[in-house]
Amino acid sequence: MDHQHTLQLNGSAAASFTCSGCKELGFESSYICENSNCNYILHKECAEPVKHAVHPFFKNCNFEFIENSEKEGAGFCDGCGKDFSGFIYLSQKKGFFKRLLGFRYALHPSCLNMKENIMNDDGNVIMTLSDEVSMSQGIGGPLVSLSLPIVDP
Ligand SMILES: [Zn+2]
Ligand SMILES: [Zn+2]
Ligand SMILES: [Zn+2]
Repeated sequence: MDHQHTLQLNGSAAASFTCSGCKELGFESSYICENSNCNYILHKECAEPVKHAVHPFFKNCNFEFIENSEKEGAGFCDGCGKDFSGFIYLSQKKGFFKRLLGFRYALHPSCLNMKENIMNDDGNVIMTLSDEVSMSQGIGGPLVSLSLPIVDP
């Protein structure tokens, strides 16, 4: 983390905020900067990243935390389908479709931690964790690829 000030956990459920790390919205507990002139704010997940992470949707796939995803080039999150910039978890293996383009799977820290439900912008659950993501459920977007195998480069 290249932020010089000390961050402290903001326990009270604040209004929604935009995370300075991953640029995504946050709603629950956050870390805020002690310096009141600074509006640096992070998701809890972004303030306490794990070096290596796994996600149940991506079997046999390890994710590593990258602070500066700009260096990795453009891409989108495989959890929510939105573009990413800033903090991101990238898989060590390349995605099944993304392999052709040389891309790895990517998950926002907040998407990685959304282990049970994935919600759309309106807060509706569009996906609930199950062992197998069925292709027949009519789920649009990038989530469909989650049930596909991960192939070694
Ligand atoms: Zn600060
Ligand atoms: Zn964040
Ligand atoms: Zn995401």
